[in-house]
This record gives sequence, structure tokens and C-alpha cells, in this order.
Amino acid sequence: MVVQRPQPAADVERDDMHYLINKIYQLAANEPLAHGPRRTFRVYAYELIALRGDTTYTMYVGQTKYAAQTRYRHHQQGHNAYRGITNGRFGVGKLRIDLFEDLPKFRCVECAKQAEGLLADYVDATGGCAYSDQGTRHANKRAQKLARRARKEALNA
Ligand SMILES: [Zn+2]
Repeated sequence: MVVQRPQPAADVERDDMHYLINKIYQLAANEPLAHGPRRTFRVYAYELIALRGDTTYTMYVGQTKYAAQTRYRHHQQGHNAYRGITNGRFGVGKLRIDLFEDLPKFRCVECAKQAEGLLADYVDATGGCAYSDQGTRHANKRAQKLARRARKEALNA
């Protein structure tokens, strides 16, 4: 797996940090107190194993209020898991603690979802292919789907 651990904020000049990781730190630094009393939401990622030769995605990226290990076990057990896992398209690979353990946590789920999208984009920008409900790749796919549907409806009209 090519995707590398992001440079932690404490060790580097801001300039050395990948801009998408920097954005996650900025998001956390600017999150209003009104979003919640505690920073309980975190992003997490694990590698995907292609079980049917489908290598569209190599990494799952999500956010959770649980400990990352706990949520990871949920995916392994098929409990609230990514659909690609439950339908047997992918297996649950290595939990990539190195990718998210240094990242800040968030007070609310909306901010955590934004951070999830940024981490997914980081994975895509550094050699991986992230599956996430929040990343740019997913947004593009959704836009394509809507455009296809619109064209179809236009033809049928
Ligand atoms: Zn928030």
C-alpha cells in the first residue's frame, strides 16, 4: 500500500504538511465550541482486499464516535459495515492507524464527515483509491449518476 502516514503537525513546518491534512487541522482548530462539548468523532481508514479482482477501491475511509478498533471490528463482523464488505466484493484489510492516529478529533458528526472527505482525498492524492461517502471521488460519481439519470429521463420525456 503506497499511501504514507501524514506528517504530524507538531514535527513539521506547516509548509511541509500535505495541504489536505493541513485542512483537517484547520477544520478542527476552527470548529466552534457550540458544535459539542467534547471532541468525540474521529476519522479512520482500513485497507480493502479485492476478493473478486475488483481494484476500484483500495482503502475504506470513515468517521465514527467509537474507538477506531471497535468500529473496525464492526466492519469485520458485518455490523453496519461498508456495502462492499457485506456483499463480498472486498475483504477487511489492515487498519491503517498510522494514517489517522495523529489527526484531530471533532465535536460534531458534520465536521467529522468533512474531515473524512479530506482524508479520502488525501488517500486518492497519494496513490490509493478511497471509498468514502464524503470524498471528491464519491461526489463526482454521484454527479455522474445524476447526470445519467437526467439524460435518461430527458429521452423518455
Ligand atoms: Zn462541528
